[in-house]
Amino acid sequence: MIAPRPLSLPVKSSVGHALAGLFTQPRVDPEDFARAQVGQFTGRRLRIGRSGVVHDVGWRAWLGDLLLPVPACHQGWSGVAVAGDLTAVNGPVTCRKCLARHPGDSGIGGGQEALFTVEPRS
Ligand SMILES: [Zn+2]
Repeated sequence: MIAPRPLSLPVKSSVGHALAGLFTQPRVDPEDFARAQVGQFTGRRLRIGRSGVVHDVGWRAWLGDLLLPVPACHQGWSGVAVAGDLTAVNGPVTCRKCLARHPGDSGIGGGQEALFTVEPRS
């Protein structure tokens, strides 16, 4: 009977070192990143991913007193704000939850546009 041997693959240290170099991420200074986000989203609206819904911008504390933009209505999404999932836009807010936060305030958007017109039956 042959005893099973543990599987071992030859790994050269130079290969491991080269692979590690492929997956290194550039370092980002959190304060610079947060400052850039504030500059990019202040006075604007935001979209999440490829969604066409435009949200009002709210701010959430991140790493102490640094702020990052989030949907003001607290709409969740898979991902994190630092992964580039949010896009700053200039259009009017179309999110119903964001519009409901400021009833009567036309300053944040023109409301959700109708998909089609409904003609009353005669
Ligand atoms: Zn919203």
